[in-house]
Amino acid sequence: MSTSTPQTFEFQAEIKQLLDIVIHSLYTEKEIFVRELVSNASDALEKMRHLKLTEKDVFEENKELEINITTDENAKTFTIQDSGLGMTRSELVENLGTIAHSGSKAFLKSLGDSGQKNANLIGQFGVGFYAAFMVAKSVKVYTHSWRSSEPGHVWTSDGAGSYSIEPAEDQSRGVKIVVELKDDCSDFSKEWKVEEILKRYSAFVSFPITLNGKRINTVQALWLRSKNEIKDEEYLEFYKFQAHAHDEPRLRLHFSADAPLAINALLFVPKENTERLGFSRLEPSVALYCRKVLIDAKPKDLLPEWLRFVRGVVDSEDLPLNISRETMQDRALIEKLNKVITKRFLKFLDDEARNRTDAYNEFYGQFGHFLKEGAALDYTHKDALVKLLRFESSLTEKGKLTSLADYVTRMQPEQKEIFFLLGPNREALENGPYLEGLKARNLEVIFCYEAVDEYVMSNVSEFDGKKLTAADRADVKLADLPKPPQEDSLPEEQTATLTTWLKETLGERVAEVKLSDRLVGSPALALNADKFTSPHMRRMMKAMNKGGSEMPVHVNLEINPRHPVIKRLAATRESDPAKAKLVAEQVLDNALISAGLLDDPTAMVTRLYKLLESV
Ligand code: ADP
Ligand code: MG
Repeated sequence: MSTSTPQTFEFQAEIKQLLDIVIHSLYTEKEIFVRELVSNASDALEKMRHLKLTEKDVFEENKELEINITTDENAKTFTIQDSGLGMTRSELVENLGTIAHSGSKAFLKSLGDSGQKNANLIGQFGVGFYAAFMVAKSVKVYTHSWRSSEPGHVWTSDGAGSYSIEPAEDQSRGVKIVVELKDDCSDFSKEWKVEEILKRYSAFVSFPITLNGKRINTVQALWLRSKNEIKDEEYLEFYKFQAHAHDEPRLRLHFSADAPLAINALLFVPKENTERLGFSRLEPSVALYCRKVLIDAKPKDLLPEWLRFVRGVVDSEDLPLNISRETMQDRALIEKLNKVITKRFLKFLDDEARNRTDAYNEFYGQFGHFLKEGAALDYTHKDALVKLLRFESSLTEKGKLTSLADYVTRMQPEQKEIFFLLGPNREALENGPYLEGLKARNLEVIFCYEAVDEYVMSNVSEFDGKKLTAADRADVKLADLPKPPQEDSLPEEQTATLTTWLKETLGERVAEVKLSDRLVGSPALALNADKFTSPHMRRMMKAMNKGGSEMPVHVNLEINPRHPVIKRLAATRESDPAKAKLVAEQVLDNALISAGLLDDPTAMVTRLYKLLESV
C-alpha cells in the first residue's frame, strides 16, 4: 500500500484497555497531561542534543532547541511544539500505537551503559502520551524526523479505537501536537490556566519553554548542578522562587547521594520561624521531583513532622519506578527517602554546631523548638536530636548555651545524674532556693524556661547513660555528694523537735518536714511530693479543670537549720507558740511562692499583717 494516502490503524486490543485506564484512573488530575507532553518534548530535545554530537546529516540542524506552547480559546485547542528529534512514519506507529512502548527507554538502551545513566530523560513507561486523551476530542501529532531523507507526517486519533497516519508537507523538525479539547476541558485553552500548570510542574525543565510567546521557565534546577559551580546569588534566587520567600535563608544544605537511593537535594532553613511569631502551624513543603519534573509540592511524609520548617527540593531518579509518578503509593520508597534525608540533615546540623557555633546557636534560638519536639517524639532520631539541644545552665553566662555533651564533661567525679530546673527565667532560678544546694557542691544545673521543656526532659529521660533529673524533686539525693561548708547550725536534737512540731502545726498542707541537705541561703524550700504538683502540671490541670475543685498542694518542706529564721523559730516555739504558728505557716507559704505553687495569696496576706502588728 502507498504511504502517501491516509492509512487507518486499529489500536492493539491491549492499548484500548490501557487508554481506558489512563483516561479514567491512572491520573487523579486532568492537568497532568500538560506535564506529560512537556516531559516528552523535553526528552525529544535531549535526544536531539545528543544526536547532534554524533550525526552529520541533521534536518534543520541549526534550529534552536526549545518548546513552544500556544493556546486558542476560540478554537479550544492546546498546542505544543518542540524542535526535538521528531518521528518517522514507522516510529509513529511504534511509539504511539504500541502498548507501553517507550521510545525513550529504547533510546537509553541503544546508548548502552552511558545511556542508562542519563538522568535528563524523563520518560520510560510509554503511557504519558495517552494522558492527552483525558482532555481531548482529538489529538493530532505533526512531525518531521531529524533524518533529512524522511518526509513529514501527521498522526490523528480520537483515542477511541483507531488512529490514522498521512503525509504532511512543510513540517519543521520535531513534533507539534494539537489537542482539540473536550467541551468540559476548555480551561486548558486559557493562557492563565496553562501558565499556572507549567509553572507548577515544569518550572525546571532544562530547555526554554514559551507560552504564547512568553518565556515561562527562568530558574534552573540548581539541585542537579555541581555545588562549586553555583554562586550564592543563584542559591538565593532559587530559594526565593522555590519557597515563595522574601527573606534570605539562614542555612543551606546541598547534597547528593547514590546509595541506597539516587538523591539530589537542596534544602533551606528560612531566617525566621514564623510559628514562633504566632503564625499558623507550618506545612511540610520540601517538594518532591523526579528528573526535574514535579511529583508533589507538599509531600506529607517525605520528612518527619518536626522538620516542617525546612524548604527546598528533593529529586530522586528512583521515583518513576512508580508508574503514575503522581500519587506516591510506594510507602516503602518514601520511608527510605525520609530516613536518608533526615539523617543527612541531622549530620549537617551537627557539623554546623561544631564548626559555626554562633550561627548554630542563633538558628537554635529560632528553630530549637522543632528539635525539642523531635527529641521528645521521634524515637528513630532521638539520639541525634538530643545531641543538638542547647540550654543555658548555672555555669553559662546569661544568653550563652551549652550542650548536654559539654555538661557531661564538666560533671563532678561523684555525680551520676544531669540536673535541670524549670522556671520562667534565669533570674527566678538563680534566686530560687533549689539551686543553692547544688551550687554549693559545684553541681551544674541545666536551666529550662519553656513550658515544653518539662515534657521534653521527661521523654528524653537520659543522655549518655546519665539520668536527666529535675533538681526540685523530693527524691533527689544530695547527701552522698560532698557537703557544702557547715556553719553554725541548730543542734540536731532541737532540729528534730522542730521538724516534728512543724509537721503537726502545718498538718495536711505538707506531706513531710525534713532537714535539708541542699539549702544554703534560704530558710526553707518546698519539693514536689508527687509528680502532679510541678508548677507547670498544676497550671495545666487548672486550665483543663476550669471552675472545678482545686487540687490540694502536696509538698515536702525542707528546712535549713543554719538559717537565722529557723533558729529563731525554734526559740519562739517555746516562748510564744501562737506567734510561732504564724511564722511556720508563713515560711511554708514563702517556700510555695518560690516553687510557683501558691494559688491563693489572700490568707497569706492577712497573716502577714498580723505578724507585722507584733513588730
Ligand atoms: P515515555 O515518555 O514514558 O517513553 P510516552 O507515552 O510519554 O512514554 O511516549 C511514548 C513515546 O513516544 C516516547 O518514548 C517517544 O519515543 C515518543 N514521543 C512522544 N512524544 C514525543 C515527541 N514530542 N518527540 C519525539 N518523540 C516523542
Ligand atoms: Mg512521556
